[in-house]
Amino acid sequence: MSPTATAAVRDRLRIAIQKSGRLSEPARALLASCGLSWRESRDRLFCYGESLPVDLLLVRDDDIPGLIADGVCDLGIVGRNVLQEQVGERAASAQPAVHREWRALGFGGCRLALAVPEDWKWDGPAQLTGKRIATSYPALLSQWLAQQGVNAEVVTLSGSVEIAPRLGKAEAICDLVSSGATLTANHLKPVETLLESEAVLAGPVVPFGGVRAELAALLLRRLDGVLRLKDSKLLLFQAARGAVPELLKLLPDAEPPTVTIIDGSDRLALQALCHGAVTWQRLEDLKRAGANSLLVLPVERMLA
Ligand code: ATP
Ligand code: ZN
Repeated sequence: MSPTATAAVRDRLRIAIQKSGRLSEPARALLASCGLSWRESRDRLFCYGESLPVDLLLVRDDDIPGLIADGVCDLGIVGRNVLQEQVGERAASAQPAVHREWRALGFGGCRLALAVPEDWKWDGPAQLTGKRIATSYPALLSQWLAQQGVNAEVVTLSGSVEIAPRLGKAEAICDLVSSGATLTANHLKPVETLLESEAVLAGPVVPFGGVRAELAALLLRRLDGVLRLKDSKLLLFQAARGAVPELLKLLPDAEPPTVTIIDGSDRLALQALCHGAVTWQRLEDLKRAGANSLLVLPVERMLA
């Protein structure tokens, strides 16, 4: 299929997300919180956008970068690990870059790590020289080995990488880790991090034209509002004028506050949007520094 042929005729935006797996629900929820809604088709592979001309294609996560490269989809929500592996693959075969990470989305966090048998005394990457390393991320691993100047054999496996050492297929592995429980169960320990990963919005390097450019800009505006609000709260409090400089030092994550003078007193009422978590501990610290009448309000939507 010719990428430009499919892309040129479309006046709707098409986003690929994982059909079922770790990223599918949070990806949908994130898009829904940007005001998108869909009519599901019976085969549940394509969801027609109702509130906006933005459709979803439900696929395997590994297919997402390829669908964007071919112009079948405009954007995708995928792990940075999957995106960067395919970016690395293209670079290794001297193909031009087509993908770019548009936004980091703050869920699906994990890391691509190198793990070795528990009983190895780890003294650095040079120890891997001449060893076999099993992975589903051959491009990222090869890149890292080259950066480290280490000559090791990359053994590509599509799954069950963590049992490769027990099966005698490799001495070490390079795989995704979140809690590390799978590694421990296989008597392995993580020793190096190759990539910190999370779900990302992946898109093309080249900007869209026409209607799709407008739709993508609208989506990004809403997405940025949603992402900024994740932990954000509106904090209201009162304080004596003299205490305010100290109080603001306790709010490094806050936007410049709105300040109102309370008639007939030396006290001020302040309102600040805080981007970090406003915990009980922080409220108590503010109270000790002279704030009172503290109120924390949830923020529903924001459009900068
Ligand atoms: P698919 O059927 O779509 O190919 P999959 O089995 O490849 O599914 P999942 O296991 O659902 O995919 O993982 C999707 C993404 O979730 C990973 O690529 C990674 O970015 C992220 N992730 C977060 N934590 C972990 C983890 N502990 N193990 C694997 N992936 C994780
Ligand atoms: Zn996959």
